[in-house]
Amino acid sequence: MKSKEAALSRLLAAVRREKIAALRSRPLTIGIIGFGRFGQFIAKTFAEHGTVVATSRSDYTELARGMGVEYIPLSNPDEFFSRNLDVVVLATSIVSFEGTVRGLLPSLARSIEESETRRGPLIVDVLSVKDYPRQILLDLLPKECDILCTHPMFGPDSGKNGWHDLNFVYERTRIDAVILDQVKESKKNVLHPSVDKNEDVESFVEEGSGKIHSVHEHSEAHIEGMDRIERFLSIWEEEGCRMVSLSCRDHDMYAANSQFITHLMGRILGAQGLEPTPIDTKGFDSVLRVIDSTTADSFDLFYGLYKYNQNSMDTIMKLRDSMDDVVEQLSMMELNDK
Ligand code: NAP
Repeated sequence: MKSKEAALSRLLAAVRREKIAALRSRPLTIGIIGFGRFGQFIAKTFAEHGTVVATSRSDYTELARGMGVEYIPLSNPDEFFSRNLDVVVLATSIVSFEGTVRGLLPSLARSIEESETRRGPLIVDVLSVKDYPRQILLDLLPKECDILCTHPMFGPDSGKNGWHDLNFVYERTRIDAVILDQVKESKKNVLHPSVDKNEDVESFVEEGSGKIHSVHEHSEAHIEGMDRIERFLSIWEEEGCRMVSLSCRDHDMYAANSQFITHLMGRILGAQGLEPTPIDTKGFDSVLRVIDSTTADSFDLFYGLYKYNQNSMDTIMKLRDSMDDVVEQLSMMELNDK
């Protein structure tokens, strides 16, 4: 058994090396929209894997040059889309997301019309909430663009020493105009057409197994789309991320009780004006670290986590109730103590 296990793991390592070599031989051209704190952070690593072109509202020409990234102002979207982009990563603030996407649509449509293949780039979002951008991208993007929704669960602070073992959440959302079923896709990684009435989805049932397949599944566009998604995902994989395939819906449910509550506590504790003291405990050190890491992010980001995740208000209400419960417990104990 042991020797079989060792042989399998050698085979797996060889396949992985082969995959990386194949992917490396065809590097992607990646456009980044939103070159703020997070956009710059991912651009540095992307630049080691392919060609990067960035655009943003502010002027980052010099900064981008220092990173080996081409910079084109957001006021010139035609120029940005003229760069034969394989992938476009949307890294703007959550609050400006919809407006930015809407503003880019005419240039995106023109670039698709002028391209030889009539296919658009793969559009990826990295927002810290997921259901909201998913819906906007599905509603607004032309069907020639595939969609991948992602959330790297780290940033410039937690990822400053590399991305190894950090969680990267993703949902393959749309390929070749077929919306993948959020839940089934994340569990089984199997193509399953949406039942959305607005989508032009043609499907067939496999004889025997009863599995539902899309007629697009073996089309060239589908295979190319899948390949491009895998090449993009492999960047994160190669950097050592823990790859988590999860539906946008589930992401938001988990994130409200992990990420949002951390930011909420960081902001609340930060508002107390806490400072290091000469007698700090390890526990207090961690409290100060939470304050530092959460308040380093923009208030726009914090507001976005609240406003655009439907579970966040619930988290606030539960926290209030818990505060009341704990204070009540203290008062009761004090009463009984007399
Ligand atoms: P942010 O404050 O959420 O976003 C800043 C970015 O949004 C900048 O590129 C800024 O462009 C752009 N922006 C803001 N208002 C705009 C407007 N009205 N029109 C066009 N662009 C506008 O800070 P961030 O940390 O860089 O986050 C960017 C995205 O990454 C967010 O969606 C966030 O949820 C996600 N994310 C962040 C982290 C993190 O640790 N920070 C981790 C994972 C995911 P200019 O700089 O050109 O003004």
